[in-house]
Amino acid sequence: MDCPRCKDNPLHSVTLEDHLEAESCHNCGGHWLGSENYYRWLDDRGEILPEKPPEVELEVNDSDKAKLCPRCRRIMLKYKVGRGTDFYLDRCGSCNGVWFDKNEWESLKTRNLHDEVHLIFSPAWQENIRRQSHAKTLDRLYEQKFGTEDYEEVKKIRAWLRDRPQRLALLSFLTDKNPYQI
Ligand SMILES: [Zn+2]
Ligand SMILES: [Zn+2]
Repeated sequence: MDCPRCKDNPLHSVTLEDHLEAESCHNCGGHWLGSENYYRWLDDRGEILPEKPPEVELEVNDSDKAKLCPRCRRIMLKYKVGRGTDFYLDRCGSCNGVWFDKNEWESLKTRNLHDEVHLIFSPAWQENIRRQSHAKTLDRLYEQKFGTEDYEEVKKIRAWLRDRPQRLALLSFLTDKNPYQI
């Protein structure tokens, strides 16, 4: 198999993790992971590790070009990973193999997400990323609209109000022009 990124460069067998064989490109540092190998490794591990913040942020060499599956030659689809990362994984819809550009696997590993790779391609995961990305956009818009200081303040008030049993009464007190007039 040749590297989907460097084209004529052959992939070499490597041991990505204990009991996890993959194919790597010595030129670009990417890894090709077959789905059978991945699922066998996952089954052997049993437990899924809890996600954690990365100790170091690795520099990922993501490429936005479409790539062909080194096994089936089909175009692979791109899936955003989210969860604090900024890269996409390429996955073949035919053989379910995954291509990791340099440091993508390693970056997932620093977050303990390397044993959740199969979930990244699920509609639920992708929907969650979309929701988070919308929330981020709105967050930026509010900050622009209110200014950083006022926005921070109003967020505090909002959080404080949320748990008050009398929040509606408190809110009308806040918004009433003159709450002391009957
Ligand atoms: Zn390569
Ligand atoms: Zn394939």
